[in-house]
Amino acid sequence: MCSLFGIVAPDLPVADLTYLALYALQHRGQEGAGISVSNHGQIQTYKQLGLVPQVFTETVLRQQLIGQMAIGHTRYSTTGSGHVVENLQPLEFSLDGMPFTVAHNGNLVNQFELHSELTERGYRFKTSSDTEIVGALIAQFSGLSFEEAIFAATRKIKGAYSLVFLTPDRVLGMRDPYGIRPLLLGKMGNHYMLASESPAFDIVGGKLIRDIEPGELVSITDVGVETKMYEAQTKRRMCVFEYIYLARPDGDLYGRNVYKARRRMGEQLALEHPVKADVVIGVPDSGTPAALGYAKASGIEYEEGLIKNRYVGRTFINPDPMVRDLGVKIKLHPIREVIEGKRVVVVDDSIVRGTTSRKIVSLLKQTGAAEVHMRVSSPPIVSPCFYGIDTASYDELIGARKTPAEIARYLGADSLGYLSIEGMVKAIRLSDDQFCMACLNGKYPIEVPASMKREKNLLTEPAPPAVA
Ligand code: 5GP
Ligand code: SF4
Ligand code: MG
Repeated sequence: MCSLFGIVAPDLPVADLTYLALYALQHRGQEGAGISVSNHGQIQTYKQLGLVPQVFTETVLRQQLIGQMAIGHTRYSTTGSGHVVENLQPLEFSLDGMPFTVAHNGNLVNQFELHSELTERGYRFKTSSDTEIVGALIAQFSGLSFEEAIFAATRKIKGAYSLVFLTPDRVLGMRDPYGIRPLLLGKMGNHYMLASESPAFDIVGGKLIRDIEPGELVSITDVGVETKMYEAQTKRRMCVFEYIYLARPDGDLYGRNVYKARRRMGEQLALEHPVKADVVIGVPDSGTPAALGYAKASGIEYEEGLIKNRYVGRTFINPDPMVRDLGVKIKLHPIREVIEGKRVVVVDDSIVRGTTSRKIVSLLKQTGAAEVHMRVSSPPIVSPCFYGIDTASYDELIGARKTPAEIARYLGADSLGYLSIEGMVKAIRLSDDQFCMACLNGKYPIEVPASMKREKNLLTEPAPPAVA
């Protein structure tokens, strides 16, 4: 996943503002965080493993990160290369002696080819992150202006990339020609900002202006913002999972509020998969808006049936099966008074491997639910994502291997209903050609090379060592 932020504001404490923005974007990456500032042309970067408030102390923000413009990043950990400090961003490079830093959200589908190509030309990789490929490519276009070098690099890289750059005198942001991952332009007074999601603007006292378009490069200086299209053949194909699960509900993407879209998905789900029941509950937090929508459209009462402990990290993975089973109870605990003796509709946003959903169904049954009807506010995930979301490979995706009826049996649910693709699109209120839905319908907007398909399971392994 990952999150991006950028700001140019010579009269404001840019590091503090970036810190607040990254705090608001923490859900997009909990592995580590970094900020680069430009202080009268001198670039400083600070990054560490950990959550945003753990990474940046007051001393770091006020003494080390003084500047007039900044970019920031939070990193999402995929298993394997997760806890490697070298992979944190922004990454530092230079073009003809001019320093620049870059931060990335997405995944390059031709990274293996580009990695070999750069290695053969003598470039020595310091990280196993594909972001280094972008920076290294740009750095090789000696003699070009920075923007020209970016354009030249975009002719080589393929895949999903929202990028922010910091140079001595500007912040730049761009989206790939399909705009798979989000990036937005915001404003505070006469200062411009970039962010992966609009709540980052709200948190610093600014507001959303618009989405950066696919194939667009914006360049922000202290006099304003300039924009260029670096690619003529562009299409809007934003990741539909931003609306389903990834983005904060209090944000807007392409003019649609994410919470409202999720609520409407729940309403639509109730129309598509009605059931006689006594209570509707959601799996917090991601299933809550859709559960509210389901309750409204079905007329069945909504209740809080599962309480989430917010202090349990995603890292609670104990090898002992007994402790692991207890793990789900630490994270989600049922309210017996809501569940016992009831026919329960439980709404979640998605099923990936099915392991969480299975535990939830069993937890509800153990708590005395008379019936458990699982409702999912997205269509079945039938194909892996190659564009930067850590959804499993084919053999791990339960939706790729089993029919909904088989999945219902596996979950131990009395019934299971998924939202249809048409219903999902209708609920978001954008036309179906605006999205990437590859993991739902197998239609990949950006061709995925065989090397990437093969490497899907190896993606997170460190890249092969460079040969001298
Ligand atoms: P499962 O039942 O497949 O084990 O887990 C489904 C749950 O995982 C859902 O509640 C969903 O919110 C959550 N989840 C966590 N990470 C992701 C992700 O990267 N993509 C999707 N689609 N869901 C995720
Ligand atoms: Fe999003 Fe699925 Fe497309 Fe990946 S394949 S970008 S998760 S819609
Ligand atoms: Mg969830």
